[in-house]
Amino acid sequence: MKVRVDPGQCDGYGKCAKVAPEIFKLDEFGYASLDEAVEVAADMHDKVREAAKVCPSNAVIIEE
Ligand code: SF4
Repeated sequence: MKVRVDPGQCDGYGKCAKVAPEIFKLDEFGYASLDEAVEVAADMHDKVREAAKVCPSNAVIIEE
């Protein structure tokens, strides 16, 4: 699994970083900066799926 954040969709709610802070880092304005897809370790898959679910902007993009 890989994950990235669509910078055009992200509205800076920061929910992804609350669910999976190991993966999602917020910039100084509260936006998740993850432009390039990163590989997600197996033990983080559930958290990343949860982050995608709670993102109000559907900005978290999972590539299986
Ligand atoms: S939850 Fe969604 S909108 Fe909020 S910072 Fe994360 S990616 Fe952006």
